[in-house]
Amino acid sequence: MRIAKRLNEAKTMMEQAGREGSSAEWLLMHVLDVDRTGLLVRLSDELTPEQDLRFSEYLLAHVHGVPVQHLIGYQPFYGRDFRVTPDVLIPRPETEELIVFVTERLKRESFTAGQIVDIGTGSGAIGITLALELEQPVTTVDISPAAITVAKQNQAALGGDVTFLEGDLLAPLADNSVRVLVSNPPYIEEEELLSEVVFDHEPHLALFGGKDGLVFYRRLVEESGRVLRDDFRLIAFEIGHNQGPEVQMMLKERYPNAETGILKDINGKDRIVYAERKDCTA
Ligand code: GLN
Repeated sequence: MRIAKRLNEAKTMMEQAGREGSSAEWLLMHVLDVDRTGLLVRLSDELTPEQDLRFSEYLLAHVHGVPVQHLIGYQPFYGRDFRVTPDVLIPRPETEELIVFVTERLKRESFTAGQIVDIGTGSGAIGITLALELEQPVTTVDISPAAITVAKQNQAALGGDVTFLEGDLLAPLADNSVRVLVSNPPYIEEEELLSEVVFDHEPHLALFGGKDGLVFYRRLVEESGRVLRDDFRLIAFEIGHNQGPEVQMMLKERYPNAETGILKDINGKDRIVYAERKDCTA
């Protein structure tokens, strides 16, 4: 059977199973070891029996809930492929918008080691991307040694001046040292129903933020007083779509002299909350 037809059938199979049709494409590109263009030029070829079998196995695994990214081993994020395992959250496209926001705000400013921090490293997607895009040193913290191992592998493959610290939120950071605080903490509410692809395969440590999903924002804002310098520049958090006003209020109360705001993602949902000191540019 020609690849084009096999792919179409696989897409339909994915959709009927409640998965994205495009998953079939990612899995087939992986089986053939080609990118999208490579796939296009081979649409009238045939799969070998071994390729066909592997493709079927992958499709079935995904139908049973295994994320495509765990089958192919990576997730593209901001133009780079990040290795992912069940020990780390799979980077989401929404989080690329956090990168856009932070890099636009900090363009042309320079910072020294330890001044830009990312809390909750996971795969390293945020920390490594910021280090590469800003060409500045970034320090990251994660409570999970297994996640840090993955992040370090990503840093070794992709580069970036990144220091990885293990610990609970801001605990490993020095007093009065941080000028830019970025985080995509766990923010899912305890009772929220998630797809089995997420719930059964991604680390709950990286997903759930207590009963109302806000536990880590409360702690980050409260504990930030110790590590932030008086002339801090920017705090930027990714948030759940219904958490904007509450998280903004926390920042407003704690940092009344900063300008705070909520930004929407490409789907029109609240996604980023920030506090910024424009008078403190570096
Ligand atoms: N955005 C992720 C999701 O919807 C959650 C990430 C997080 O809790 N920080 O699954």
